[in-house]
Amino acid sequence: LAKDAGRACFRFFTRALQEGAEERVRLASELRRAIDAGQIELYYQPIIELASDRIVKAEALMRWKHPELGFVSPATFIPIAEDTGTIHDLGEWAFAQVVKQTGQWRNLLGPDIQISLNVSPAQFNTGPQTFQRWIDALRTAGVPGANLVVEITEGLLMDNAPGIRDSLLCFRDAGIGVSIDDFGTGYSSLSYLKKFDIDVLKIDQSFTRNLSPDGADFALCEAIVVMAHKLGLKVVAEGVETAEQRDLLCQIGCDYAQGYLFSRAVPAGEFEALTLRHT
Ligand code: C2E
Ligand code: MG
Ligand code: MG
Ligand code: MG
Repeated sequence: LAKDAGRACFRFFTRALQEGAEERVRLASELRRAIDAGQIELYYQPIIELASDRIVKAEALMRWKHPELGFVSPATFIPIAEDTGTIHDLGEWAFAQVVKQTGQWRNLLGPDIQISLNVSPAQFNTGPQTFQRWIDALRTAGVPGANLVVEITEGLLMDNAPGIRDSLLCFRDAGIGVSIDDFGTGYSSLSYLKKFDIDVLKIDQSFTRNLSPDGADFALCEAIVVMAHKLGLKVVAEGVETAEQRDLLCQIGCDYAQGYLFSRAVPAGEFEALTLRHT
């Protein structure tokens, strides 16, 4: 009986795996056409300055409205895009959108607005040329680098390729901010914090989720904030969902917060309305 159950389970498992693989192949080919078909959109999630309670930044997050499947999560399609190379087209498209949007919001919401854009490790493969082009595009659009923040992951900085250092220098020279996404979940080496010019640490939501005054996560968040400030970096806490989490983050001097407590990622028009109402 146990053997039968095992076999049934195995069969189920392989089928699920196979369907998973077929689904990925399907999504990969559809994703390639999704940009031109107008199915990809950038949503914006507000980032609040805790001391002033003002919306001062936003993170651009990609959304794919699939005609049959509905919303496909970026947690699903970004890894597929990275595996198949489509991330380059998606990344260029997102950058172009962000430049256009930031130019408009500088006028409408204020010249200090900062928009952060997630950039995949694969986008660093071509070396700094890609980002030199970005900087030219910003200049052409009249958008200062200071209005843009690039979000990268810790793993990228563990890669010793010289192209990565050059790319980061490129950002620094253009005044573009560099932010470490999901901080604390990647490799545990901190040496990259002194090797590279980083501006912001984004504490991963796995640390903010269970914040309580005498818990380990609270101690870790406080230690991250203290360390960051000593190094001259700012800190954003991700995944802030409750007023209690916000209050604890305020207490330890965390600079910014992002999460459902304030707003989910919303379409550009809604972000605009929200920010105008909020400030
Ligand atoms: P991320 O960059 O760490 O983005 C934060 C994720 O947390 C977003 O998920 C956001 O919607 C979600 N989030 C924000 N506040 C809360 C909260 O209070 N509670 C919870 N439970 N979740 C919250 P999303 O939009 O599904 O994006 C998932 C990931 O996909 C992103 O993680 C990022 O790694 C990737 N991604 C999204 N857009 C892009 C993009 O344009 N380019 C690249 N390369 N990656 C992207
Ligand atoms: Mg991010
Ligand atoms: Mg994150
Ligand atoms: Mg800097």
